[in-house]
Amino acid sequence: MFKNDSVSEKNTNLGLPKTKLTVFDVILIAVLLIIALLYPILSAAFLRESDSMYVEITDTGENIVYEYPLDIDKNIEIECGGHNYTVKIENGKASVAKSDCENQICVKTPPISKSGSSIVCAAGRLIVEIKSDFEEKNYADFVIQ
Ligand SMILES: [Zn+2]
Repeated sequence: MFKNDSVSEKNTNLGLPKTKLTVFDVILIAVLLIIALLYPILSAAFLRESDSMYVEITDTGENIVYEYPLDIDKNIEIECGGHNYTVKIENGKASVAKSDCENQICVKTPPISKSGSSIVCAAGRLIVEIKSDFEEKNYADFVIQ
């Protein structure tokens, strides 16, 4: 195209500051700004599928009974609402492996792995749910079974 020197000379007539900024510099800065603005949104979207997810098991939908990271395989024995359950975490998926409830709907529910999805057992009022924001939780009181 044209030399930078000739551009800055012409620009002095327009009262523009004599900076070394070229059109390409401005575009570069604009792109960096856009990336900076979009970064939190993009990273949040990717985090949803990352290992920052955990399994939350609630009793009657109110009391959190257990929380476990989804990326660690584990069998969790739970007594809830007079029923006994075995919640299985395997290969980043959670499922109800065993239950003594009558209809066995919770056991038949396919394993869940996406944030926000859940398995519910109406008989014992048990809810197994996948959640994210793993970092915010305190896992010091994990119960190993
Ligand atoms: Zn059930």
